[in-house]
Amino acid sequence: MKVANEVIELLVQSAGTWLFEGHRSGLTDREWMALRFLARANRFSKTPSALATYLGTTRTSASQIAAVLAEKGLLTRKASTEDKRSIALSVTPQGTKFLDRDPISALRDQVVILELADRTRLRDALRQALRRLDTALRRHHTDVCSECMFLAERSKQKGSHFECRLFRKELALKETELLCTHFERRT
Ligand code: SF4
Repeated sequence: MKVANEVIELLVQSAGTWLFEGHRSGLTDREWMALRFLARANRFSKTPSALATYLGTTRTSASQIAAVLAEKGLLTRKASTEDKRSIALSVTPQGTKFLDRDPISALRDQVVILELADRTRLRDALRQALRRLDTALRRHHTDVCSECMFLAERSKQKGSHFECRLFRKELALKETELLCTHFERRT
């Protein structure tokens, strides 16, 4: 229990380096979370409802956050090519540059300099804890395709390619590394 308490305390204190009240570098922490998510989201998750799922808020609140980011020139809102009834939220080049000022970068920089084996163990341990929490709370978290039950690898003559069996769409290898709010973990 002692180690578990220390881990929780360290997680809380590390979150304190990027969660804050008011504005930092021109955005609230919610706006930073939204911009960061949309920069890492796959094409099925760049929508106001996916953003709402990720932030754990309502679609109206997510749309308001997207509107603030769009006003600052960090996002565009256009009709989705995947679903004409939906809006696609895309980070602009200005938004990508703005992410250089992301307050979470300081923590990421410290994770990057860990040994690869330690980084991988940390990632896997946090993912496992989150999965158990999902089961207990009957929710699911946002994650990448490689951990998802809908990912299928097909082989073609010139190498393999991937398919999302939920959306029935092909996925490039790079897309499988992006965040998806429709993710369902493998059992
Ligand atoms: S395979 Fe899963 S995570 Fe990937 S796009 Fe499909 S639903 Fe989303």
